[in-house]
Amino acid sequence: MLGTMLLVLLLVGQVAQAPPDSRLALDDVARVVEPTGPIQCPKVPLVSYRGDVIRYASPLRVNPDFRDRLRRFEAVVRDTAIEIYGRAPTQILHLGSFNCRRIRTWPDYLSEHGLGNALDVAGFVFAPLPRRATLPAELPKALARAFRVRIDPDWQGTQGVAALHARFLHALTQRLVARLDIFRVLLGPAYPGHKNHFHFDCAPWHIVEI
Ligand SMILES: [Zn+2]
Repeated sequence: MLGTMLLVLLLVGQVAQAPPDSRLALDDVARVVEPTGPIQCPKVPLVSYRGDVIRYASPLRVNPDFRDRLRRFEAVVRDTAIEIYGRAPTQILHLGSFNCRRIRTWPDYLSEHGLGNALDVAGFVFAPLPRRATLPAELPKALARAFRVRIDPDWQGTQGVAALHARFLHALTQRLVARLDIFRVLLGPAYPGHKNHFHFDCAPWHIVEI
């Protein structure tokens, strides 16, 4: 019995240490499309997903493989938030998941949104501190109340609470970039058209421009 538990713990420990990236079923789907005219997206499996570790503000439509990556993403959000704010957010604000369209700047290519293989994250919602909990001493008192962190404007925050939010957002993206078992493409304010959101996807190539 003890031996089995130990084995389970060891296995869980290995999973937590970021296994190497693996091939995904969507890697074999062709992304090249006609640059103009009506677009047809390949029929791929899509599921509705509300978030297991942290809920999304509204349900997502995503490919099941991408949903598994999102669970790991939510765990990184939770852990980073607990380190910085002493509590996890209760909701992830997003600007969309499945959406059959081209990449705006590369119209010969289908957007990963067209495969349910992408998510645009706009921010995070934190509920008020529970009555019996104590706010970490170094945090501004205002953070005992409900608050939101948004990529725009908090990514650029330099003072007070805004600087803390910037620290959270930057720490989060650094960790996500280092986790090769979560996303392959990570775009943010440094990339044209992404001032107010992070775009994360699992395309069969690797791009980081946060
Ligand atoms: Zn996007």
